[in-house]
Amino acid sequence: MIAQEWSKVSKELRQELGESSFKSWIEPLELIAVENGVARLRVPSRFVGDWVKRNYHDRIVAGLRREHADLSQLEFSVAGNSSPRPAKPAAPVADSAEVLEGAPLEGRYTFDNFVVGKPNELAHAAAKRVAEGGPVTFNPLFLYGGVGLGKTHLMHAIAHELHQTRPDLQVLYLSAEQFMYRFVQALRDRQIMDFKNIFRSVDVLMVDDVQFIAGKDSTQEEFFHTFNALVDQNKQIIISADRAPGEIKDLEDRITSRMQCGLVVDLHPTDYELRLGILHRKAASFAENLGPVHVGDGVFEFLAHRITNNVRVLEGALQRLFAFSNLIGQQITLDMAQDCLSDLLRSSDRRVTVEEIQRKVSEHFNIRLSDMLGPKRARNIARPRQIAMYLAKELTSRSLPEIGRRFGGRDHTTILYGVRKVEEMRATDSQLAEDVELLRRLLQS
Ligand code: ADP
Ligand code: MG
Repeated sequence: MIAQEWSKVSKELRQELGESSFKSWIEPLELIAVENGVARLRVPSRFVGDWVKRNYHDRIVAGLRREHADLSQLEFSVAGNSSPRPAKPAAPVADSAEVLEGAPLEGRYTFDNFVVGKPNELAHAAAKRVAEGGPVTFNPLFLYGGVGLGKTHLMHAIAHELHQTRPDLQVLYLSAEQFMYRFVQALRDRQIMDFKNIFRSVDVLMVDDVQFIAGKDSTQEEFFHTFNALVDQNKQIIISADRAPGEIKDLEDRITSRMQCGLVVDLHPTDYELRLGILHRKAASFAENLGPVHVGDGVFEFLAHRITNNVRVLEGALQRLFAFSNLIGQQITLDMAQDCLSDLLRSSDRRVTVEEIQRKVSEHFNIRLSDMLGPKRARNIARPRQIAMYLAKELTSRSLPEIGRRFGGRDHTTILYGVRKVEEMRATDSQLAEDVELLRRLLQS
């Protein structure tokens, strides 16, 4: 009887609230009794009870009133407990220190090991500032960028530095996936108050790869509340994602806008200089472990030119060369690199074609593809053409003569001139530099 009533009301709620809210909040409820104007519901946890009370109380009362005109109030009891549990006092920080342990930190992800270049200097500076542990000036710090550009590295570096300089602060680093996992586990084990207390007691919270929670409604919800609670207490939050807040699909608008309230900085794709810097730094640290290894002329340059997508891949390539050289007891040469990395090099070849570059660049500058390939020398055509040449050199593994052939049969010296010209102009012409960066991103995405 009562079960039927409840099933009717909950059916309506399912319609109104949508599947995911229904599943999180209504489905777990069980109507036990209605008497003296009070409906008693069993809930799996106090958290769910509070939530339902806050958000759906009136709606549930209205539904049940059809059969019980005098009904005015809901009462929740946690399953397994005969009487409602009194709210627990906040767990003292010292007690929760153990539970507070976040994901393990990678020891080598320090600021010292982070090579700074143009594409990441802003992100680096912002991370450094946060790592000083001074007054919170921007909240959150939102770092975003493609895979393998150093987001996790910077977050770990912040944690390492704070451990050193501000041991009094509770610093918690974890991935959004782990956040969700803990949240779900807490719901299941009815430990949600502990969960909340733990997260609200940290001084610095870092959540990595937050795009992961997009579309996962109750996790987003909880994240949002945790986030707000910490911001209200003036605690520092650092978030990373693979794209800008506004570009994350299925992330709630209110979360997006909170994210945009702080400092949003992106890690740009690496440029040639940065890749070269990273290779030199890495080689030095490999050599420390393996003993001195001779790296032949042009090997670093070759790698920095050819492996352009992701620092992790670049590191992996170098590591493979060192391991190989160590194994066979020979120096690292250009030939060896080509042989040993042929699979990697082939896969980066496939990434972008010269034709794609020409097409995208023409579109961007609003010129005809035929003009890009043709003989016209007017600046508004010649400049985009040079940019396309430059990108072809940077993003593909074609040689200059090969690129020349694809630019309407131009000589390789013309291509070289174009590439140099753009390299030069990038340093002085910020508009051009921006165009080039944007195109590079478009092409590499
Ligand atoms: P993301 O989290 O952005 O996907 P990671 O932080 O995991 O990228 O970086 C991938 C790898 O590249 C890591 O081993 C990291 O140490 C290295 N790396 C990325 N950027 C740099 C840099 N600027 N200097 C040194 N190492 C870097
Ligand atoms: Mg990462």
